[in-house]
Amino acid sequence: MRAHSVALPLAQQVIDWQSRLGRHDLPWQNTRDPYRVWLSEIMLQQTQVSAVLGYYQRFLHTFPTVQDLARADSDAVMAHWAGLGYYSRARNLHACAKLVVSEHGGEFPRQAERLGQLPGIGRSTAAAIAAFCFGEPAPILDGNVKRVFARVYAIEGWPGEGRVEKQMWQLAQTNMDALVEHTPSEALPDALASYTQGLMDLGATLCTRRKPMCEACPLAAVCQARAQSRVHDLPSPKPAKAVPTRHVVLWLPMQGHAVWLTRRPAQGIWGGLWSPLEQALDSADWPLPAARLESLAQASGFTVQRVLQPVAHAFSHYKLWMLPVVVDARTGEVNEPPELSTTSDQARWFSAAQLDDVGLAAPIKLVLHDLMNTP
Ligand code: SF4
Repeated sequence: MRAHSVALPLAQQVIDWQSRLGRHDLPWQNTRDPYRVWLSEIMLQQTQVSAVLGYYQRFLHTFPTVQDLARADSDAVMAHWAGLGYYSRARNLHACAKLVVSEHGGEFPRQAERLGQLPGIGRSTAAAIAAFCFGEPAPILDGNVKRVFARVYAIEGWPGEGRVEKQMWQLAQTNMDALVEHTPSEALPDALASYTQGLMDLGATLCTRRKPMCEACPLAAVCQARAQSRVHDLPSPKPAKAVPTRHVVLWLPMQGHAVWLTRRPAQGIWGGLWSPLEQALDSADWPLPAARLESLAQASGFTVQRVLQPVAHAFSHYKLWMLPVVVDARTGEVNEPPELSTTSDQARWFSAAQLDDVGLAAPIKLVLHDLMNTP
């Protein structure tokens, strides 16, 4: 079936379905405020609605306007994001708010193309904001929509591949053009919002990755994957790649009930968050023999007090094993590492209560929680 023969029914079916059965009561719906829509779109990237709800409300409570967010301290922003993952989103969010205030007088640009030039706003997110808030007929293509298109049009290949993505953007545009062509201009803003939301809802609630509910789907009649009994084969998975494993020691110097942490560099994993001092290990050193640990500690000016349980964390591109080790760091001792005596906004002591106010990656939070709550 050629793409254009599916285009109009697809848009209209999605709108009809969204009006009757789509989601209408999410806290970021029923508003055309670009600050709220933008915040929700960034939080929802790679993250389920259920995980976002609490974060969204707390974030808006503390930073009710783009000006409040632009003025905020980066630690406060990271603390409100901690646990949501993909922390570059939070750093970009903050940078974007500052730019909207400093370069655009506190008003988000109204065109998808200009929105897409702001930090952290990709093409699909820019289109969603422009469609919801400013009535621009810009098509979206997020992960959920890619899955729906891969199935409806039986598109072969991994959607992250350039060739496949390009084909999908063309289909997204074809569907949008058909919608604009067949909708009276006065009805267009509502139709656009309904279509954009409907595509998102369809991918999130019916055309899900594992258990698509085709019998309830408004696109069942035109869905080629369904007609070919290939729903579970599409979209094609990402070509497999071996995931490397890395190993580190997390040094946890303690002084009374305080622990020494450093701020991670802005670039790289957990950028800008607070974390224990880290030492990379050779894979051959894992599991780490006690004598080797002692000599590593000594070389850093530490004395090992207690070894905690290793913790694993899976990133998209590698797996990280961490060995948290509590070390002695009494001030005035001969072996006191010099860097522990100078505090700054990059490295300092934290009490258990202070840990609640700064951004910590979820696995580090667990390690510190165990540490602080073990006598
Ligand atoms: S019919 Fe099934 S596979 Fe096709 S779009 Fe609908 S839910 Fe997805």
